[in-house]
Amino acid sequence: MHGELSWLGTDYSSHVEEAHLQAVEQEDTFNLLIVDDMPRMAHSVQQLLDAYGFDSRIAEGGQEALDYLAQHRVDLMLLDLEMPRVSGFKVLEQIQQHFPDTDVIVVSGEASFDSATRVLRYGAQDFIRKPYSPDALVRAVRNVQQRREQRRQLKRMQQQLRSSEQRHRFIVNNSPDIIYMLDDQGRLTFVNERAETLLGYPRDELLGMHYAELVHEEDFNKALYAFAERRTGERASYNVEFRLKPKDRDLAPRYFESRTLTIELSAMGVYSSASDARRFVGTYGVARDISERKRAEELIQFQLHHDLLTKLPNRALFRDRLEQAMALAARHRSQLAVMYLDMDRFKVINDSLGHQTGDQLLQAVATRLRGCLRESDTLARVGGDEFTLLLPEIAQAADAEQVAGKILQAVEKPLLFEGIEIYVKFSIGIAVYPEDGTSLDTLIKHADTAMYHVKARGKNDFAFYRSEMRTLHSRQLQLESDLRRAVAEEQLRMYLQPQVDIRTRQVTGYEALVRWAHPQQGLLGPDRFIDVAEETGLINELGQWMVTTACQTLRRWADGGCEHLTLAVNVSARELMQVNFCEQILDNLERFGVAGHRLELEITENVLMQDMEQAVVKLKRLAQHGVRIAVDDFGTGYSSLSYLQSLPLHTLKIDRSFIHQIKRPGDTSAIVTAIVSMARGLGLDLVAEGVETQAQLEYLLDLDCSSAQGFLTGRPTPLEEIPVPNARAASG
Ligand code: C2E
Ligand code: CA
Ligand code: CA
Repeated sequence: MHGELSWLGTDYSSHVEEAHLQAVEQEDTFNLLIVDDMPRMAHSVQQLLDAYGFDSRIAEGGQEALDYLAQHRVDLMLLDLEMPRVSGFKVLEQIQQHFPDTDVIVVSGEASFDSATRVLRYGAQDFIRKPYSPDALVRAVRNVQQRREQRRQLKRMQQQLRSSEQRHRFIVNNSPDIIYMLDDQGRLTFVNERAETLLGYPRDELLGMHYAELVHEEDFNKALYAFAERRTGERASYNVEFRLKPKDRDLAPRYFESRTLTIELSAMGVYSSASDARRFVGTYGVARDISERKRAEELIQFQLHHDLLTKLPNRALFRDRLEQAMALAARHRSQLAVMYLDMDRFKVINDSLGHQTGDQLLQAVATRLRGCLRESDTLARVGGDEFTLLLPEIAQAADAEQVAGKILQAVEKPLLFEGIEIYVKFSIGIAVYPEDGTSLDTLIKHADTAMYHVKARGKNDFAFYRSEMRTLHSRQLQLESDLRRAVAEEQLRMYLQPQVDIRTRQVTGYEALVRWAHPQQGLLGPDRFIDVAEETGLINELGQWMVTTACQTLRRWADGGCEHLTLAVNVSARELMQVNFCEQILDNLERFGVAGHRLELEITENVLMQDMEQAVVKLKRLAQHGVRIAVDDFGTGYSSLSYLQSLPLHTLKIDRSFIHQIKRPGDTSAIVTAIVSMARGLGLDLVAEGVETQAQLEYLLDLDCSSAQGFLTGRPTPLEEIPVPNARAASG
């Protein structure tokens, strides 16, 4: 508001106009000069005028009169003609040339017609013959005074008129609003300067232009009413809002993304009142630039309907768009697809890398997802790591399948954050309208159900909704609450899988693998519940149970005379992150009196890399107590191997996918060869995972790989079924 008022004071110098008015004001006094070489005559005239209230001075001769004129303003001079040296004619001549504002009445004894006409030709107002009649003289003076007064008023009026016109023009041109007039055809006949700056056209181009050329295509109907306004008064258009197109839209960056000028227009008809019949001559209007306000409104609207982190639509806007799309699809008897996308393991990434990185990751992922879509598709962020996607028009279900495939492929490439590569994967559920539901909530719910189905099946995939899945979503929640009870109610089981020295075929240790004896669903493998455990934090209790059970077992074995076997326990990211991670492990070792080197912790590369600093500190502390550290699934994570030197490592476990490449006798694997020689170079123990065939075992023997763990040398077996190994077995 302040800005709008201050413009009035900036350029316009009102004091100039004020000075003019004051000059006119001073003329209010009426200055008379009596010029006569005979003092008696002059004084009698002065007395007469005095009696009538006129103020006058006397100049005794032509030269004195001219001297006086040079110094003072004289409104009326009563001038004698016959004077010595400078005659009355000489004075008249000078007045005509230099003092045109001074009126003259000649008072003279010379009364010839000739001199009278000569005097009047010099511009004198009147001619009075001596001896003068007082009446005639006073009348003549009054006449002049009146004429001057009239002239003065006229001048003043003109002055005022001029300044007020100036003012109006100033106001019109400097108005923050566009002011314009249209002729009866809708062509611009007048625009103020503001129109030029706001619309970007020079005035020449605007004049004669039809308003239609300026109106944004989508707002044409609204604009038509206002611009073609013929009504006046209260029924005329008032504050009609629509958009105009500035000349060069690319050069108008100040107008929000749309690059348009939003205005509020008030307009009325203009009629000529010259004749009796009122004739419509055009439209007068004022258009206010409300782009700024619009922008603020748009921003608020945007905030209400978007997720500010990713700038994607939020749940509310998604529902809105879906509703519209469904109505359209119903009318056109067409199909549409709704997808529910859930980022796998985002919680773990977010918790271990910090929220800031988590946020950046979400933004990067949102950009990648958008890149797979069409303009008409709506991708929304509806939760921390949950997105929904609307494909408003698909010809067949396969179209949605294609998009889902494209998304999984697009996010496949690792994202790099502070030197750490992060692998993003999604579980995607798809529901198709009308097949999988005709109501908004059903469609979304079914897409969600399909997504959960993918999660349970092993993630990083997509699935279409099927009615059999219906119970799955609730089953997932059930699983969560069941798992909470699993630890307390002793439903967890430990299975052990032997690690065998390839050369001697002796068992060197076991890996502890968790199983869940679910009261209804039977024995469940870790792939069914480890993720839920991680996402809910239950993994901490589960992990602790494993460590405790492992230490208890080692104690029992030691009591039975076996002191040479190691037990390996898996550690997840969330466990490693825990502040009292080290304490829990050391407490267990102490409680059961187990030497640290009997316990090995298996940690995957990805988990180690998520918070390298923390990992180094914690693992070093444990290593000081003898605890062994193994890198699990080695070879599948990060390409950078520099971490191997900074961590106190003991074992590398070659991922089973590499071992699987060895199918027949004679097959080789470059990567396995490389890992084996690298481990030897670093002085690390090596365990090949997933050894299933004799060919694989022989290949590993050839490479001089120390240990193997796989179905070939021993399946995971319930702890209770493993006999207490004895010292003899170790040496024999
Ligand atoms: P992992 O650490 O790689 O564990 C080895 C997995 O490979 C086990 O699956 C094991 O049964 C399987 N395996 C062993 N030999 C062979 C073979 O010859 N061929 C094939 N194809 N597979 C073989 P499992 O028990 O289903 O465990 C799966 C994953 O769950 C484990 O992978 C581990 O990452 C995780 N896990 C298991 N127990 C725990 C636990 O107590 N805590 C944590 N945090 N994770 C666990
Ligand atoms: Ca493992
Ligand atoms: Ca492994």
